Amino acid sequence: MTIPDDHPRANSLKTREKVIEGMHAKIVAEAGLIAHGRGEAFDYLIGEKTPSNALNQEKAAVAMILLAENPVISINGNVAVLCPEDLILLSELTGAPLEVNLFYNRAEREKIVANKLLNLGAEQILGIDAEYQTSIPELTHSRRVVDRRGIYSADVVFVPLEDGDRTTALRKMGKKVITVDLNPLSRTSLWANVAIVNNVIRAIPEMIEIAKELKEQKQAELEKIINVFDNSESLKITLTFISERLEKLAKDELKKLKNID
Ligand code: ATP
Repeated sequence: MTIPDDHPRANSLKTREKVIEGMHAKIVAEAGLIAHGRGEAFDYLIGEKTPSNALNQEKAAVAMILLAENPVISINGNVAVLCPEDLILLSELTGAPLEVNLFYNRAEREKIVANKLLNLGAEQILGIDAEYQTSIPELTHSRRVVDRRGIYSADVVFVPLEDGDRTTALRKMGKKVITVDLNPLSRTSLWANVAIVNNVIRAIPEMIEIAKELKEQKQAELEKIINVFDNSESLKITLTFISERLEKLAKDELKKLKNID
């Protein structure tokens, strides 16, 4: 579908189109379309812009990845179509390998997702080699399969767009979990050590810039950033931001959104 550049919601429609094309290419699962729609709804609530608190969340996330001994970035179908190049760059900058980790139709889709990333320049993709596959406890079926060199042995797992079950299972294995999730009330956001409440399309490029800066800092500085970060407190700030924004809109600013006087 051709989306005219002057359409008021051109960016959002183009992104939606990427997800639909990704589904036809068997990269995105059908359920990924529903998850995307849920994300769009929450993006309206934050004004489709990065809230200042999300930048603090992103900073804590990058510090945690840089301090980790074995960090890993988990890739699902949605992020593989939304921001693959940025995830490859973030992986290179932080030294965290990329692991394809899918919930639905794993066997069919994982090679397609991995090839997409390899074609875009990723050097290595974990999660597709049967020799290294193992399981995480507490989960059933294909959702438990992970790479022994990646998620299984990682101390910090960055899972942009994850579901609550798997986040809690990873936490119960003693791992630190970082997520990007537009829903501040999802189980994933609540259970993560660092939840970034922002659209993954904005969050990952911002994390790249933060990583360039934090890479130059001493370990003690990075530790300070993490020590003052508290996920529950951070989610409260996000919820307050959303509720105050909605209150303002409800009072007198709604017409501004319609771009009329
Ligand atoms: P949970 O199990 O964590 O309570 P859930 O069942 O909604 O939540 P999923 O179905 O896996 O979990 O949904 C993935 C999450 O990703 C949703 O909360 C959705 O808001 C969020 N999401 C979807 N698209 C984006 C995006 N582009 N950027 C950030 N978050 C997104």
